[in-house]
Amino acid sequence: MFIEPRVGNRHNAPRRGWIEVVCGSMFSGKTEELIRRLTRARIARQRVEIFKPAIDTRYHAEDVVSHNAARIRSTPVAIASEILLLAAGSDVVGIDEGQFFDSSLVNVCEQLANNGIRVIVAGLDMDYLGRPFGPIPALLATAEYVTKVHAVCVCCGEIASYSYRIAASASQVLLGETDLYEARCRPCFLEGMQAKEPTPEARPAAAH
Ligand code: ADP
Ligand code: MG
Repeated sequence: MFIEPRVGNRHNAPRRGWIEVVCGSMFSGKTEELIRRLTRARIARQRVEIFKPAIDTRYHAEDVVSHNAARIRSTPVAIASEILLLAAGSDVVGIDEGQFFDSSLVNVCEQLANNGIRVIVAGLDMDYLGRPFGPIPALLATAEYVTKVHAVCVCCGEIASYSYRIAASASQVLLGETDLYEARCRPCFLEGMQAKEPTPEARPAAAH
């Protein structure tokens, strides 16, 4: 379990910020872990702000909600730079579904952390084809603390790292839940992908 880092104890030292990333497949407990950390920060009487991309309204327009129905109030934002304006005065900033933001999210998180804010980003590390997803890979490189959480493979019960898409769509962003996605381990993911007709995106480029 992640233990919050202790802030340095030099007298009169400026407040230190840092970046934490919680990544993994769908159903791996990213949102649960984000809510757990933010709840503890609130118990410590820190000023906490939570953001999510406005496109993600699967459960609720404003709340961040986990698959086991834990929830916390958040502010939906259309673009990452809005977070900079809205987070002024916070001690801790939580961001869910980070993969849906563009690459500017990395710079936004850097600026917040440079200004002494603890930033916690939860997001999918891979898309439905197993490719690195949006700004999360770059955040993994720049974060001080990285936690990869795992789901349970619905086919075999092993540890799952992949979000297997049951539906036929080839769009990278397709919002859905258990109706569209399954958590799968590597062998069960590969088996499913091989059984599928190759989509234009997944098909290897033709040799010249
Ligand atoms: P994430 O944000 O990573 O998609 P959540 O934090 O919203 O995940 O939800 C995690 C919860 O999802 C688990 O505590 C469990 O109740 C539920 N769940 C549903 N399917 C699975 C699965 N295949 N593996 C693990 N947990 C699952
Ligand atoms: Mg989630």
